[in-house]
Amino acid sequence: MHRPPNILSPALRDALRALVQTACVQLELIQAREEAALILRANDSRDILVDQRAEFSDPEEIVARQGSAWLELFRAGGAAVVAGDRVASLGKVPEAAAIHAIVDWLGAHHPGEQSWSSRELRLTGLAALCEPSRTAGMLAVPLPIRSPRHAALLLFRPEKAETRIWAGNPEKTIDRESGHLSPRQSFESWAETVHGRSPRWTSTELRCAADLASNLAVLIAAGEIGRLNQRLEHLATSDHLTGLWNRYRMEEAIDHQVSVAARYGRPCAVVMFDIDHFKQFNDTHGHDAGDEVLVQVAQAVSSQLRDSDYVSRWGGEEFMVLAADTVNEGASRLAERLRAAIEALAIKDYGRVTASFGVAVHRNGEQSRDMLKRADVALYSAKAGGRNRVATSAD
Ligand code: GH3
Ligand code: MG
Ligand code: MG
Repeated sequence: MHRPPNILSPALRDALRALVQTACVQLELIQAREEAALILRANDSRDILVDQRAEFSDPEEIVARQGSAWLELFRAGGAAVVAGDRVASLGKVPEAAAIHAIVDWLGAHHPGEQSWSSRELRLTGLAALCEPSRTAGMLAVPLPIRSPRHAALLLFRPEKAETRIWAGNPEKTIDRESGHLSPRQSFESWAETVHGRSPRWTSTELRCAADLASNLAVLIAAGEIGRLNQRLEHLATSDHLTGLWNRYRMEEAIDHQVSVAARYGRPCAVVMFDIDHFKQFNDTHGHDAGDEVLVQVAQAVSSQLRDSDYVSRWGGEEFMVLAADTVNEGASRLAERLRAAIEALAIKDYGRVTASFGVAVHRNGEQSRDMLKRADVALYSAKAGGRNRVATSAD
């Protein structure tokens, strides 16, 4: 212990200053090297996302494939991708409900596209949603997409107890009795352990995570667009009541089949049918009962078809079947089978319905609308001939 002041010589002071400067430069070098490595690896992970774009766009798939790379990259214990109602996660993360609550909280308190991070969640508004031993810190990056509205990449870090070495215990300089500061008696190093904190999120990590999030946003938005397209396509091509193809879709299929017939000489046929006296059925039992009939007829007919046959609701109580690779007798037999299946249907306590059928087999070089016209004429003659029967257009 020194009673008199310990005066360092100018030479020693210079030497110490030089030592500290060298240590600082070395520290900066180490940090720069680590940051460069992080950026490189983050780019790799992003490239994988971009390269495999066509293959996966669901948050679950993305996390399953890339999540563990992210954990390593960001020294995180857990990662989650939130897209609307969906949460895909890996590692140590809060429960799905808590994750949704976190995203809602961020939306309310930190709206916009900026990242938000904390190494000590217990001191933030999210304290109740996180457990320091598993999720002490979090880095959240909103995904810049409009649909789904709440989308984010969340990275979690567990607590890492930190030991700080002080040159002497600062507490000891306060005189407990008087509360006055007093000169230190000892400069022995003093260690303090800090709990409840995760390692700091570096600015490079924030940048890399923002980069990753913008790529994730593109992938997830592409997935949404794909799903919307499928839904649109379904809406545009199917009948909402029966779930069968609609007329538009069937016309397309008939045109295609007729062009195949022309090119390869493969025969095809159409079978058109119309429920008999359906107006009367509706008048007697009501429109809902009529709808039920349409649904059941659609199911009965579908179950009778081969893989190469297609059925559609042509309009109202009219249906159209396209039978590929079918010649005369085959088409008439198919129609007869469908007629019998409809007649056999017992629809609740409403009784039975029947249908009349018109069959037309494609003629060499014939346009589809002419074939359809012949099926219509045949159907008309089945109606005129007494209904509940099959009429085939002559060759
Ligand atoms: P026909 O034996 O000559 O075919 O007589 P029909 O009564 O079946 O023929 P019409 O063309 O006079 O009437 C068709 C009826 O089909 C009228 C309409 O109320 C009913 N209909 C058409 N579409 C639907 C539907 O989506 N749901 C219900 N419940 N009925 C429908
Ligand atoms: Mg009818
Ligand atoms: Mg009709």
